[in-house]
Amino acid sequence: MAEHEHVRVAVVGSGFGGLGAAVRLRREGITDFVVLERAGGVGGTWRDNSYPGCACDVPSHLYSFSFAPNPDWPRTFSGQEHIRAYLERVTDLFGLRPHIRFDSEVKRMTWDGAELRWVIETVSGTLTADLVVSATGPLSDPKIPEIPGLDTFPGTVFHSARWDHGHDLRGRRIAMVGTGASAIQIVPAIQPRAGRLVLFQRTPPWVMPRVDRAITGAERRLHRALPLSARLRRGLLWGVRELQVQAFTKHPEELGFVERLAKRNMARAIKDPALRAKLTPDYRIGCKRILLSSEYYPALARPNVDVVAGGLREVRGSTLVAADGTEAEADTIVFGTGFHVTDMPIAERVVGADGRTLAEAWKGGMEALRGASAAGFPNFMTVIGPNTGLGNSSMILMIESQLNYLADYVRQLDVLGGRAALDARPRAVRAWNDRVQQRMRRTVWNTGGCTSWYLDADGRNTTVWPGTTSEFRRATRRVDLAEYEVLRPSAAGAAGADPREATV
Ligand SMILES: Cc1cc2nc3c(=O)[nH]c(=O)nc-3n(C[C@H](O)[C@H](O)[C@H](O)COP(=O)(O)OP(=O)(O)OC[C@H]3O[C@@H](n4cnc5c(N)ncnc54)[C@H](O)[C@@H]3O)c2cc1C
Repeated sequence: MAEHEHVRVAVVGSGFGGLGAAVRLRREGITDFVVLERAGGVGGTWRDNSYPGCACDVPSHLYSFSFAPNPDWPRTFSGQEHIRAYLERVTDLFGLRPHIRFDSEVKRMTWDGAELRWVIETVSGTLTADLVVSATGPLSDPKIPEIPGLDTFPGTVFHSARWDHGHDLRGRRIAMVGTGASAIQIVPAIQPRAGRLVLFQRTPPWVMPRVDRAITGAERRLHRALPLSARLRRGLLWGVRELQVQAFTKHPEELGFVERLAKRNMARAIKDPALRAKLTPDYRIGCKRILLSSEYYPALARPNVDVVAGGLREVRGSTLVAADGTEAEADTIVFGTGFHVTDMPIAERVVGADGRTLAEAWKGGMEALRGASAAGFPNFMTVIGPNTGLGNSSMILMIESQLNYLADYVRQLDVLGGRAALDARPRAVRAWNDRVQQRMRRTVWNTGGCTSWYLDADGRNTTVWPGTTSEFRRATRRVDLAEYEVLRPSAAGAAGADPREATV
């Protein structure tokens, strides 16, 4: 094989996960790493989602790195542009730019068992790495459903995560497809400009008010002068969410009173009983992500908005047909239909020790030891891997726990010395996932009577963590070597035999 550039660690992706991994590697004294990013800038989610109204639904003081507090968040729930700017500052502050290779989409990563390293093919060249940290994001590849006749639509079509800013919405007949977290932010932001806005709703979401306000100058000054005050604020936001977890994971019946609050939120804005009926979910709150908006229902009550209680079934030229047969004319379709989550696209590009792709290994459902390591994929860690998602708190907490695990992983490899790789033992992966799935049985996500993007094609919940963030933090504090097989290169391995037989 031709000699390629070799690095100790290759991080894929430069969102919160990839940038966080880069900071953590530097803190561990590792500078021999690259960050491979397919786009031309950092930010991931917060670079790609620039739709009108895009904002976080976790308060900013919690939705940020604990090691990079920002006393100057402008709002309690900051908008996309502020979060993106924050990530740009993190990149500069921690000196990450020299490590980042933009426009370097990873096409394939193949484990070389003889050399104990990954061969990484990108659109801009090939390199090798001892360890891969895959931080390609759970919500980074937009999904547009296959709608018969969509190709006959004469107007403009785009996904919420790839907003067409060149398309003027003023006076347009817009069809918004989907009612997830993005759609409910988009609808109130574009309704005033739209000539007519038709919302195709397959399932109504539960929506709670969002108490968003500007953070005052006095608060910001306090946080700058007394960093402890910002830490306390973060701690409070975190603690409240930790206390809610039991209701989601063990006692979904306790969520009944939250449903009543959500209904009151709807009733305040929606006076028409027929529309209220359309918008009222028939599943337990929390089963799908609880959405936060104080503007969504008021926007739906405006005279230029129609709600069609049925998903988009067919397109016939400029006529859109819903599942219930309702027809609507449109010149613009915006898909707020989510992402490839349980069929993570990067998995098709990763080839493990036995020649199978990660997608093939995950055919029966994604699973990884402590959300990070899949058996047969040595020295390959996923950030926000299987069952690390949250229904009610900040993903940055989970990412930071996974970074602790990464740091210990690297330390363990150092302690082992020489050339070594860790491969999660299938038994350990099974035991971890059995525990996760056992706990999942009682959760609102599995019992609440809905189908959601948390579930895979077989109805298995491979996305959400069924516990508190502190439990996950404890579970990822250390790498337990008993859960891994230690691989070593060997003369036999170098000669082409299966190096796994030469394990010490
Ligand atoms: C609109 C929206 C709102 C959200 N709001 C919240 C919220 O309020 N609270 C919350 O906790 N979470 C929220 N999330 C979830 C959010 O995705 C995570 O919080 C977090 O930003 C994920 O970071 P990440 O680095 O793992 O992934 P991403 O931010 O998606 O970054 C992944 C990066 O990998 C790159 N990449 C992908 N494939 C390749 C490849 N083959 N080669 C090279 N590079 C590649 C992408 O270009 C991207 O830059 C939201 C998500 C979206 C889409």
